[in-house]
Amino acid sequence: LIRAAIEVRGVVQGVGFRPFVHALATSHRLGGFVRNRGGVVEVEVEGPNASVDGFVRRLRLDAPPLARVEDVIRTAREPRGEREFRIVESAGAADAPAIVPPDIAACAACVDELFDPRGRRYRYPFTSCTACGPRLTVAIAGPYDRERTTFAAFAMCAECASEYGDAADRRFHAQTIACPACGPQLAAIDARGATAATGDDAIAYAADRLRAGDVVAIKGVGGYHLAIDARSDPAAARLRARKRRDDKPFAVMAPDLATAGALVELHADERVALIAPARPIVLARRRAGAAVAGVVAPGSHLLGVMLPGSPLQHLVAAALPGVPLVMTSGNRSDEPIAFADADARVRLAGIADAFVVHDLPIHDRCDDAVVRAVGGTVRVLRRARGYAPAPIASPDGLARPTLAVGGQKKSVFGLADERRAIASHYLGDLDHLPAYRAFAAAIERYQQMTGVRPERVACDRHRDYASTRWARTRGLEVVEVQHHTAHVLACLAEHGADAAPAIGIAFDGTGYGDDGAIWGGEVLIWDGAVMRRDTHLAYVPMPGGEAAVREPWRMAIAHLAAAGADVDAAGAPGSLARDAVLALIVDRFHTPRTSSMGRLFDAVAAVAGVAPPRATFDGHAAMALESCAAGEAPSGEYPLAFGPRGIDASAIVAAAAADARAGVPAGVIARRFHSTVVALIEAACRRARARTGIDRVALSGGVFANGIVLGESIERLAASGFGVIAHRAVPTNDGGLWLGQLAYAAALDRAGVQECA
Ligand SMILES: [Zn+2]
Ligand SMILES: [Zn+2]
Ligand SMILES: [Zn+2]
Repeated sequence: LIRAAIEVRGVVQGVGFRPFVHALATSHRLGGFVRNRGGVVEVEVEGPNASVDGFVRRLRLDAPPLARVEDVIRTAREPRGEREFRIVESAGAADAPAIVPPDIAACAACVDELFDPRGRRYRYPFTSCTACGPRLTVAIAGPYDRERTTFAAFAMCAECASEYGDAADRRFHAQTIACPACGPQLAAIDARGATAATGDDAIAYAADRLRAGDVVAIKGVGGYHLAIDARSDPAAARLRARKRRDDKPFAVMAPDLATAGALVELHADERVALIAPARPIVLARRRAGAAVAGVVAPGSHLLGVMLPGSPLQHLVAAALPGVPLVMTSGNRSDEPIAFADADARVRLAGIADAFVVHDLPIHDRCDDAVVRAVGGTVRVLRRARGYAPAPIASPDGLARPTLAVGGQKKSVFGLADERRAIASHYLGDLDHLPAYRAFAAAIERYQQMTGVRPERVACDRHRDYASTRWARTRGLEVVEVQHHTAHVLACLAEHGADAAPAIGIAFDGTGYGDDGAIWGGEVLIWDGAVMRRDTHLAYVPMPGGEAAVREPWRMAIAHLAAAGADVDAAGAPGSLARDAVLALIVDRFHTPRTSSMGRLFDAVAAVAGVAPPRATFDGHAAMALESCAAGEAPSGEYPLAFGPRGIDASAIVAAAAADARAGVPAGVIARRFHSTVVALIEAACRRARARTGIDRVALSGGVFANGIVLGESIERLAASGFGVIAHRAVPTNDGGLWLGQLAYAAALDRAGVQECA
């Protein structure tokens, strides 16, 4: 007979770990107890030697699906003759570090209960259990117990309390337990602020309003969504106008998998992603004739589709069978999603015709996650609800606690110690004050949650990024990491390959370069310690700087002028505008130099005639060009020229313009350009391999969110004998920079050097 004390570390609170330990100990006929202490789970068991050994083994192997067991530390104790096993009161400080799990969609058992008229949770929208429900967005502090969640305001009724205390129940120690008698309640509010319905009637009210073409704001798990009937052109147009979102595609919630399959083409991997517990938005190819209004996702061959995740979404979907609903973030333009009730009512007034609200506070906002399957692999493009926070292994050799603050527009930061790195949820565009405040507040929260006190901070070299400015005022050692170095290292680190040499292809829209130019078409060589720029798209002027990002035709003029071709092919809105831009180029006035691949996409989209006159979101013209190419079979490539000044991209634009002049359809031009980019990547990698012998390639940067470029690059490079690494769990866009910044700090540690800026 022995007694052992066991400490379990990792994501072990809020995942049903104590009930699991209770069941496991009982099945092994062990006495003792389990409790949360600070951020860890503490267990003491007593019984025959073999049973205790078996118990400890199974603790790791059979852990609940949402748990992430990092360490199991066992120490011997003196037996006390304890025969019974109990869950006891939590101990430890309320500010002890504890990693909260992600919010998880309602599990199958809870959904069954939701629609079972005999059960006491029939149609109750706050049904959850130890295996599902909100976590990150309701947890206030650790240890994860009800009194430190936003459920604390709801005292359990006798029936809930008995389920909570019953070791055989699915809700044994489920902190988000609630029922119609004791839990949060729904209400519907009309545009004037009057209560229009309460309880289940609020769902019927919302369904009526949606059927009538109204915009309904629905308080979700991580914030408010704005919903409309996705089939209605006038409703979609109204939502766009009110939200001041001109063209950026809206995501659609399909009521079920069959309806989703009628909207988009779903391969097996996309189906799996749709029904995964994270319930992300899945970007998939829209079917011809899909029952969705044209203005929902104008100019895109893709449609973002998700399935109901929360019980409330299940109820809304069930009230509108077969009806796809636009389900977009409750905000104006690109501001952060509204999540606090008073703020939402103010910010969404004038957008929503009605609100569905409830009295469960959201502690922290969290957007929907976005994924896309390319080359048979699901890739996360926005790491948010359902994914964050979940720790990954730290980059190899990281010797000191480090905070990496990421970029600017798709803000995500990462916090790491020697063993593990944890990324924040997606925080949005730091150009907006509420997002910047959320960024600063979240850094505090994640430090508390992880217990990591950073000794240095890694950031982008761009001094105008809000994240960089924040980083430089902390009084900590600062490590500045070049943008594209961070992209490539993020990709390598995600695959645990950041300590080995690789060729890095970093293609994106904008990143601050070491020479002050705007980089974005970079071929880099990483030797395991130092990043070297091998070659890049040859510099061209970026007339008007930021204005050239908004108006794609400006980049077409820049490239055509550089190639000595007729600039009228750029499609400028009139000769005055054309001449003004040419004057900027000649005078080098407000005209930085750029090697950006994203801007090359803009230029080609403009000469092909598919660019918007004004880009209203990140990657707008590139998305139009990809959608245009998506329906075409490959039919040739434009010429490639590698020279001492870099890769001549202007010749590509001139060739595309010549095609357009000869009447070649835009789809064929777009397709040829995509093939050209793939050929360029392969040629650049072959040249780099010939000189260095390195045959591993990492593909990173926002351009690799493009399905054709990524999918065909992987194929072509693999066929040429390269080992290809691309992003999966960490976004290829600037939402992945944090990991590359951490990997760079780790490389400094491995080399034993400090870099003070
Ligand atoms: Zn459940
Ligand atoms: Zn209850
Ligand atoms: Zn970037």
